[in-house]
Amino acid sequence: MLEVKNLNVSIGGRKILNDFNLTVQDGEVAAIMGPNGTGKSTLSYVIAGRKDYTVETGEVFLNGVNLLELEPDVRAAKGLFLAFQYPLEIPGVATLTFLKAALNAQRKQRGEEELSTPDFMKRVKQASDKLGIKSDMLKRALNVGFSGGEKKRMDILQMALLEPSFGILDETDSGLDIDALRVVAEGVNSLRAPNRGFLVITHYQRLLDYIVPDTVHVMAQGQIVRTGGKELALELEKSGYRDYVTEQAVA
Ligand code: ADP
Ligand code: MG
Ligand code: MG
Repeated sequence: MLEVKNLNVSIGGRKILNDFNLTVQDGEVAAIMGPNGTGKSTLSYVIAGRKDYTVETGEVFLNGVNLLELEPDVRAAKGLFLAFQYPLEIPGVATLTFLKAALNAQRKQRGEEELSTPDFMKRVKQASDKLGIKSDMLKRALNVGFSGGEKKRMDILQMALLEPSFGILDETDSGLDIDALRVVAEGVNSLRAPNRGFLVITHYQRLLDYIVPDTVHVMAQGQIVRTGGKELALELEKSGYRDYVTEQAVA
């Protein structure tokens, strides 16, 4: 379970998250929708441990552990996974090498033995087949020259291999055509499990046709301003966010 409590965050002296509260239960897929610039990415980066932000007050618990007291790699070892809006490109490092390093770093943090190469290859093959990722792509440098859809698939492959207890997808639909969107959504759907939660952040309703959320939250001015079921996403698609944005924020 993920619990965000009274989170106040600023960057460069400007308040971005404003007494933010959110709970996502085990097995739940929660969506956050909201206008651009409202702090959705800030929320995911603060949970994942990026340093640019000042956390003034608040706590983020993952299964009872306060993540804010931990380094980013320890947070990942505790089961947190963030799929980035803009995936990392790593020239000179083959995707397979990167995946193996990521998996073994997590195992080391947990005090587990390194995976043998055959075990690792078996896992990668199983997961990449499911996502329609060809083996020659895994030999290329991570994300370098990959299409938008290929990068997103790679993100989901990382998530499938790391088997997180909580996954955050921040605008993972941006720039995807319908086929890529479907593959990514099916990848996420296949990872849904009773002991795993998801936070799906998106500006548009489209992704939520494929990853059907249990809960939809509207975020504006650094807070959750409304919560509903999946039908709330459809309502927002029609009416937009204007009811939730203050005059000040528009100006
Ligand atoms: P969203 O993901 O909802 O579009 P963001 O979290 O990216 O919103 O941004 C929230 C606000 O924080 C925006 O006004 C943005 O300009 C500001 N912001 C984000 N990153 C920085 C930064 N590194 N320096 C200054 N302002 C930033
Ligand atoms: Mg944005
Ligand atoms: Mg964003």
